[in-house]
Amino acid sequence: MPPAIRISQVTKRYGQLLALDQIDLEIRQGEFFGLLGPNGAGKTTLISSIAGLVKPDGGRIVVMGHDVQSDYRNSRRLLGVVPQEIVFDPFFTVRETLQFQSGYYGIRKNDVWIDEILANLDLDAKANANMRSLSGGMKRRVLVAQALVHRPPVIVLDEPTAGVDVELRQTLWKFIRRLNEDGHTIVLTTHYLEEAESQCGRIAMLKAGYLIALDSTSALLRRFSSHLLSLRLRPGDVLPER
Ligand code: ATP
Repeated sequence: MPPAIRISQVTKRYGQLLALDQIDLEIRQGEFFGLLGPNGAGKTTLISSIAGLVKPDGGRIVVMGHDVQSDYRNSRRLLGVVPQEIVFDPFFTVRETLQFQSGYYGIRKNDVWIDEILANLDLDAKANANMRSLSGGMKRRVLVAQALVHRPPVIVLDEPTAGVDVELRQTLWKFIRRLNEDGHTIVLTTHYLEEAESQCGRIAMLKAGYLIALDSTSALLRRFSSHLLSLRLRPGDVLPER
């Protein structure tokens, strides 16, 4: 079974800024994986590289055996990407937004599946509402729904709970956990250690473009003392033993 995502020696520069420095990471199929790090660590750049939206300057990313650069169509079909930024056509209804997304993937719209996604995200009552009439939290639910219309086995979420109230946070986590239990690979970025701790089996920590730690959540928590968990590390710092 190939890994869900294999990242080999991936480097990305924006001008002088090194956003990712030779990142090596393998995420297994069925994992619930967390990418943790402070602002500017490189999390979104890495997620965008996996999604093929950012072209790395070096290295290679392979999604379930399909190279993101040379086999974009197939790799993209295997991924459901929930971006951080909320961008929609304000004149579409929720249902039309999801149907449009189906068309993007060249699949026939499947209203039964769309209804199921809407129900699971407590969006069914809003199916015919215009996107512009939705609250920010509702839009965020549509963002998740949209990533699932083509039934991708690997789901990548960039800070899905940023700026989200407690109720929606719980709805989202319940739904994402179920997707994982159903066999989907989940990769998410977060600033919140508590969230990563309660949801993820393994965690990679990024800081200033460097991968500073990669381990099971429990081992990482055992190994890191509280000041390290505040991520005040610098690249190359020696991790103290507990
Ligand atoms: P946050 O938690 O704030 O979302 P992040 O870990 O996702 O941060 P990135 O958004 O990947 O970090 O940014 C990594 C670095 O690359 C930052 O210093 C950022 O300013 C820079 N950067 C990101 N995108 C661009 C861009 N399009 N052009 C120039 N610099 C960029």
